[in-house]
Amino acid sequence: MMSFVGILDSLALRKSELIERFERLIAPTSDCELEAMAQTSRTLTTQNFGRTMRLFAPLYLSNECINNCQYCGFSRDNPILRVTLDVDEVVAEAQHLARQGFRQILLVAGEHPKFVSGNYLVECVRALAPDFSSISIEVGPMDTEDYVPVVEAGAEGLVVYQETYNRGVYAEMHTAGPKRDFNYRLDCAERGYSAGFRRLGVGALIGLSRWQDEAIALAAHLEHLFKHCWQAQISVSVPRLRPAAGGFRPVFAMADREVVQLVCALRITFPQVGIVLSTRERAPLRDALGLIGVTMMSAGSRTEPGGYTRQGREHLHRTVRGRIVAAEYQDGEDEVATGQFEISDERSPAEIAAVLRRCGIEPVWKDWDQALCGA
Ligand code: SF4
Repeated sequence: MMSFVGILDSLALRKSELIERFERLIAPTSDCELEAMAQTSRTLTTQNFGRTMRLFAPLYLSNECINNCQYCGFSRDNPILRVTLDVDEVVAEAQHLARQGFRQILLVAGEHPKFVSGNYLVECVRALAPDFSSISIEVGPMDTEDYVPVVEAGAEGLVVYQETYNRGVYAEMHTAGPKRDFNYRLDCAERGYSAGFRRLGVGALIGLSRWQDEAIALAAHLEHLFKHCWQAQISVSVPRLRPAAGGFRPVFAMADREVVQLVCALRITFPQVGIVLSTRERAPLRDALGLIGVTMMSAGSRTEPGGYTRQGREHLHRTVRGRIVAAEYQDGEDEVATGQFEISDERSPAEIAAVLRRCGIEPVWKDWDQALCGA
């Protein structure tokens, strides 16, 4: 399969017609033009997805990590409270989510081959598969042959955000650990596809470089994946950086209005792409984007392992520069693992579902295909 690496590296010189059109769609625009874009986007979303919203929940398995990413609270050098849930604890967390109605789950973990091994992921997925119609993973990139058993255990989705498509900024942001390998990460979606994943999620963290540059590279990545991974459902996300442990602040801002424009531009350019929005964004913006182009939302999220039911408290520990020390609690610190970032939309899944219904959007808690079969 042809790698996206060469296309990305020549993007400044050569863009497809589709990407040139996308670039025009994200250029500064009047209110009138943006309103017209929003209407087109809304129509295309309804045509391709109906008036539905897939609801999913992230389940953090572990916040151990051997990488240092300047913007992330889980970075190795941050002296935070860490834990890796054992499989029973993962199941307990998942049951809590199932009781809230979720049947689509995203397993999230930092990158740590010792704690978050391929076998561990297989065991987690296997334990959850009977109760969830859609399981996706968002963990450190792996080789194709290591993905295969995870797919066989029942995972169908792979989410890997490039974070930034700018090589220079990427090198500055990722100062230690295997994540420094930009190209290995860039080709991850295709490796996952070869292993059998049939939902692929890509994205860029907004705030590390100019959002317009990230968006163009991301759109080119989408175009590439639609061409080469045509049997998969492709989704995209453009999370704006949130405050996290370590104190990193976004370098480049993106206004709400620009987020709306970007979602519209993605929808108009890729009518079939799933657009994912997390609880990083505030409730009013989420509600507005739900009407315009977003098709998948997380709800009621916690970003710390054990965050739903306080699992894993017994083996919490602190790490100092990667070394484990006893978990002594600092003033005001709760006895739970540290979260990845702050949540903005604190509403419960039921509240979010009710708001969607009031807007005429049907929340979908489980996998489309199975829902259609009445399973
Ligand atoms: S972004 Fe991912 S890889 Fe980087 S420190 Fe956070 S959890 Fe680890």
